[in-house]
Amino acid sequence: MIACCIFGWLFVRIAAAGVGLAATGILIMRQMTQDANLAGLLESLASGKVRKIKTIAPGSILDRMQKVFNDNAEKSQRLGEQIRDLTLQIQLARRQKHSSEGIIYSIRDAVIVSDAGERVLTANEPAGRLLDFDYKTVELKPLDELVKNKQFIELIRQSCQSQTRHVRRELEIQCNGENIICDCTISCIYDDRGSICGIVAVMHDITREKEIAQAKNDFVSHVSHELKTPLASITAYAEMLADGEAQDEKTRTEFYGIIQSQAQRLNRLIEDILNISRIESGLVKVKKEILSTTLLIKDAVAMMKSYAAEKNITIEYDGDIVYDQTLADKDMISQVIINLLSNAVKYTPPSGHVTVRNEVDEAQRLVRVTVTDTGVGIPPEELPRLFEKFYRVAANNKMAKGTGLGLNLVKQIIEKVHNGRIFVQSEPGKGSTFGFELPLAAGVETTATV
Ligand code: ADP
Repeated sequence: MIACCIFGWLFVRIAAAGVGLAATGILIMRQMTQDANLAGLLESLASGKVRKIKTIAPGSILDRMQKVFNDNAEKSQRLGEQIRDLTLQIQLARRQKHSSEGIIYSIRDAVIVSDAGERVLTANEPAGRLLDFDYKTVELKPLDELVKNKQFIELIRQSCQSQTRHVRRELEIQCNGENIICDCTISCIYDDRGSICGIVAVMHDITREKEIAQAKNDFVSHVSHELKTPLASITAYAEMLADGEAQDEKTRTEFYGIIQSQAQRLNRLIEDILNISRIESGLVKVKKEILSTTLLIKDAVAMMKSYAAEKNITIEYDGDIVYDQTLADKDMISQVIINLLSNAVKYTPPSGHVTVRNEVDEAQRLVRVTVTDTGVGIPPEELPRLFEKFYRVAANNKMAKGTGLGLNLVKQIIEKVHNGRIFVQSEPGKGSTFGFELPLAAGVETTATV
């Protein structure tokens, strides 16, 4: 019986122990699963990837944690994608900015781009040069801090206020002591809602065009003025003759003489104007041949001698004959020499002296012709404008009549047609030397013979 009881007790203990062991085993298993799930969750969190762990019991803390982690992981994945998109967009915007800057930098006109708040976004080198700032360090600087020209700032502000897409105005800008005239266009850039989001200013230098237009206007008014004077004189004397106002032969001869000389002047004027405009427009027919300036000088001196003799002026030229020195148009070079010689006689008081020299400069491969007089000379401040069309030295006007076209024609013939150089040296009251240089013709012998 006792043995039975002991056995029974043992069986119960063993059974109880078995149940305990099984329970412990289950607990251990669960713990291990939870550990594995937790590890999986941590791994998932660390990798940032959403990975569903199926073994987690629904509604458990781990399940809730997993949901939170998964939500966060999805959010961070979306955020990552957004960051990637933004990075791409930034790269694209940078590339676009770079290429827009490349375009702006390659434009020869001055360009400034600013935002609606007048902060400079970019500008090119011509803009920096024109408005005196460093174009490389403009970014986001206020426009009025960078640009000192008040007219320009005012124009930008007016353009923004007027809400006009393009405003065009001429501006005068002081640049390195020079007065630059600019054709300035201000364009407003609008966003989707129609508000101004930026301003582009483009400035085109039109100083040269203005000068040319001014020169053309001056030329036309000068020509009309110059033509009017002899014409008025011819008309007046012809009318007096027609009205019988010249009653004796002597007066009539005097009137005929005036009409003749004025008609000649008119003719010279028209000839000069036509010659200059033909050369300027490139329409002149040039017949270049290898010739000697010596022979042309000799002919011109012979032609001028009687005119000079009227004023008791001597012309000296004892140059050796140098054959075939230069490739030039004979008639044109003759005209140059005659113009310089006649000016020398015209602007030299009676009993003066004119000397002509002709030399070959082998070292520089050129022929040099100079005409020196003992005349009235030219004030130094007048020299820079001497070769301009219609320019006459006021101080010398009383000495002789003229058109102010002769020296311009000489310059055009020498420099434009023959690639030579014209020059002048003068001292008021002492005299002047006018001269020109022409290139020596290639492969030409320049031996002098008497
Ligand atoms: P113009 O028909 O008036 O002589 P030019 O073009 O030949 O025209 O000369 C322009 C001006 O230059 C003249 O009006 C004169 O004042 C000055 N000039 C030209 N040559 C001489 C000279 N040899 N001596 C002094 N002045 C001169």
